[in-house]
Amino acid sequence: MAIELPPLPYEPHELEPHVSADTLGFHHGKHHKAYVDRTNQLIAGTDLENADLETVIVRAREKGEQTLLNQSGQVWNHSFFWRCMTPEKLQPEGQLAELIQRDFGGIDAFKDAFKKEGVGHFASGWAWLVLKDGKLVVTSYHDGDSPVGRGVTPLLTCDVWEHAYYLDYQNDRGGFLDAFLNNLVNWKFAARQLEQASAQQSA
Ligand code: MN
Repeated sequence: MAIELPPLPYEPHELEPHVSADTLGFHHGKHHKAYVDRTNQLIAGTDLENADLETVIVRAREKGEQTLLNQSGQVWNHSFFWRCMTPEKLQPEGQLAELIQRDFGGIDAFKDAFKKEGVGHFASGWAWLVLKDGKLVVTSYHDGDSPVGRGVTPLLTCDVWEHAYYLDYQNDRGGFLDAFLNNLVNWKFAARQLEQASAQQSA
């Protein structure tokens, strides 16, 4: 059982003009696929060969295997990231909207905080909205590291590696984050992550 590359949940052109089909095609078909292939190479013939992706990430972090942690984390992060975007033009609703109001003071303040985190993240990494101890928090992880196994519930992420935006925005990471936050966020997906976390806590 190898780690697999999931298909994009939309056609590559559907996020235009905010993310071009070219960027998405390379990002999914080349970058994401390379992380999948490399992870499978690294676990082949080891005791992780048949493990699920989350187990690979947690074990790699425990054992300090940085290459495997980055490669497997990149697989997981990208699979999550594709589902964080949609051409549907959504707004946060229900419990998630209430928590954004409670913990950030509103959607605009959340966007400011998320953009600041993404722009301020030095070099490669990912900006995240996570639920930690019942509270929404914006944070980031370096390189390919991920929220898996950190005791937080990820709700939303944006890839701030240069390969995510350079074809479309050149060095303007903030412009890419604005486009993501204002046009692409799949708030239904984020709300589902929140509901699942609530269900698990009350189970
Ligand atoms: Mn990427």
